[in-house]
Amino acid sequence: MSARAAPYLDDLNPAQREAVETLDGPVLMLAGAGTGKTKALTTRIAHLLTTGRARSNEILAVTFTNKAAREMKNRVGRLLGEAVEGVPWLGTFHAIGVKLLRRHAELVGLKSNFTILDTDDQLRLLKQLIAAENIDEKRWPPRMLSGLIDGWKNRAYTPESLPASEAGAFNHRGGELYAQYQDRLKTLNAVDFGDLLLHMVTIFQQNDDVLAQYQRWFKYILVDEYQDTNVAQYMWLRLLASGHKNICCVGDDDQSIYGWRGAEVGNILRFEKDFEGAKVVRLEQNYRSTEHILGAASGVIEANKGRLGKTLFTEAKGGEKVRLIGHWDGEEEARWIGEEIEAMQSGTRGMHPFSLNQMAILVRASHQMRAFEDRFLTIGLPYRVIGGPRFYERLEIRDAMAYFRLVVSSDDDLAFERIVNTPKRGLGDKAQQKIQMMARTNGVSLFEGAKLLLAAKGLTGKGAAELQKLVDGLDRWGRIQRGTEMSHIELAEMVLEESGYTEMWQNDKTPEAPGRLDNLKELIKALEQFENLQGFLEHIALVMDNDSEDAAEKVSVMTLHAAKGLEFPAVFLPGWEDGLFPSQRSMDESGLKGLEEERRLAYVGITRAEEVCTISFAGNRRVYGQWQSSMPSRFIDELPEEHVEVLTPPGLYGHQGGNAATASPVMAALGESDLQEKAANANVYNSPGWRRLQERQTRRGMSQPRESANIVIDAQAISAFTVGDRVFHQKFGYGEVAAIEGDKLDVAFDKAGTKKVVSKFIVAAES
Ligand code: ATP
Ligand code: MG
Repeated sequence: MSARAAPYLDDLNPAQREAVETLDGPVLMLAGAGTGKTKALTTRIAHLLTTGRARSNEILAVTFTNKAAREMKNRVGRLLGEAVEGVPWLGTFHAIGVKLLRRHAELVGLKSNFTILDTDDQLRLLKQLIAAENIDEKRWPPRMLSGLIDGWKNRAYTPESLPASEAGAFNHRGGELYAQYQDRLKTLNAVDFGDLLLHMVTIFQQNDDVLAQYQRWFKYILVDEYQDTNVAQYMWLRLLASGHKNICCVGDDDQSIYGWRGAEVGNILRFEKDFEGAKVVRLEQNYRSTEHILGAASGVIEANKGRLGKTLFTEAKGGEKVRLIGHWDGEEEARWIGEEIEAMQSGTRGMHPFSLNQMAILVRASHQMRAFEDRFLTIGLPYRVIGGPRFYERLEIRDAMAYFRLVVSSDDDLAFERIVNTPKRGLGDKAQQKIQMMARTNGVSLFEGAKLLLAAKGLTGKGAAELQKLVDGLDRWGRIQRGTEMSHIELAEMVLEESGYTEMWQNDKTPEAPGRLDNLKELIKALEQFENLQGFLEHIALVMDNDSEDAAEKVSVMTLHAAKGLEFPAVFLPGWEDGLFPSQRSMDESGLKGLEEERRLAYVGITRAEEVCTISFAGNRRVYGQWQSSMPSRFIDELPEEHVEVLTPPGLYGHQGGNAATASPVMAALGESDLQEKAANANVYNSPGWRRLQERQTRRGMSQPRESANIVIDAQAISAFTVGDRVFHQKFGYGEVAAIEGDKLDVAFDKAGTKKVVSKFIVAAES
């Protein structure tokens, strides 16, 4: 076909064109960020359709996120004009998995109208199984089992194919419980997410005719973000593609960020082996970012070992250097970014104006979003959260809010229903029905109904005792709420502790649990800005209603994981601090695997930016209302200095970003600070990262991120704690300082006994 008849080919460089026009046989496009892999993949779909190689329903195209799938559909539509019908088999692995499984459900003992369980349902089921086996769920929590089962499904293990070494997990009962769980799902005519692919793999393996049918049907298979496929996805693809072998995968080993979920970057390396004669196309020109952004990203990723290694260049010379700025604390960071977005919107930064849609904030951990959401609501800056619930819509936040709602108003039945058995109080469906009945017969709220039921001795055993405890608690918390003896912040913490809600997550062994606990801490922190619980709840009601139509101009807020494949003219990357990014978990791990995955995430983050990339860190973050100091991320040190410009913190030095009319928040904070805060502050400005920034600036003769004389305090000279102080430690809980030796403390913990801990891992607690 001539380029004339296929004008879309004119927009490609020769390497991309080769990938698009090599229609027969396996093709692997292995290239760095922004080199036009997705563009080539989309064009390939258009080309297959235009040349008549395939009808739209004969093309199978897989992406990772719904947003990416939507975008690819739009792009194909644009390439071919409105007249073209959609590509029905273009979607995420899960979306395509459901569609296929509905057609063949009976082959794995399901009916085609099977239901898909969410995580809550899945856990409820596992809990029942664990209970039926008389396993102590305190020691062997359902979440741990669900984590194991998900992992097995990611690796394509059915209960039958599960190796003995794995089946012994969960107190030697893992494999057995997995089998029971799958049986139970079958009886319920239900599947979980992992089943969507795993069942299809099983069906293909056991039914040659079905497999052959799809091998013929899907003449062309295309996969974006191939580096993040897990074993089950890989097997599924390989089975489907092994007939005609027209499979085109595109990926970037430097952007593999789902290892923690079972993705195997090795799948890329195996491609050439599995698909003999594969054409490997490399792309080297980056069309997305300016030279400084690309240079900064390349500098960071170079620190990883075991890369395939790639060269990248861009013709977009010059432009803004990657901007780096340190802040006093997380709130200051959010405030500055809010102001900066408004300034960039009006074009007062010496750059062209950016629309809100052109700007995005990419965070490492979802709990970071809260500060931004609150700030943006306060200043009325429209924003949208992409890929994942917004902070106030998360499970643990909704649960906690339900408790608060009940404290404020005990007749909030929806809130009561939500938490009556969360944490588990032995109040199953039957008990809850009794409460409902009692409430209905007497025309009262569920809370009152529960009281009546208890008075009438309508419940017995553990459930009765636990319900009594809950009801008494709610009465008491309600009284405190109406009185003045305790602040609403203390009350909120007390409610979550006494109700057993915090403990539920502390005992939870799944990977999400620490994040949920962080979110709960964030929630408590958010209360500080309100006078009472009621005011807070009203505020949240407004937040929840903030869902407006999607076409509006809004700043995007999302995690780095959700940002994969996307691009924005201006990107903000906040929270570059050791312990947050890279995460504490990756730093504690032995070996470099976790840390290298974090570094790839940093690479993904920087390479989302087209024109302006702003990285920031805060010297202090508040945990449980106490300052904790943090160090600038080690990734900051890896940014090549020639691509970085250090901005001075606002307020401190009256720079462009600060609002001259308001007093410096740093100074203001210092004015009221106690010694501990100063110590925290001193840590940051004495940190190696900050010193290096200074040195760089000095070498370049630029204005320095100066430390003013009254800020710098010798951190060593101050011991933030004294013997007898009440403290809190993330892992060991509350305790009392027994002895101090340098930065190491002996702490007598209430529950964990006496332990030696490093002072930076503890915070002062109210006694
Ligand atoms: P990532 O690894 O981040 O997913 P990618 O390799 O998929 O990146 P694309 O998103 O396809 O890259 O392309 C990046 C940007 O470059 C897009 O805006 C795209 O339109 C543009 N682009 C791609 N190829 C070309 C080209 N040959 N000429 C001009 N612009 C191009
Ligand atoms: Mg892409």
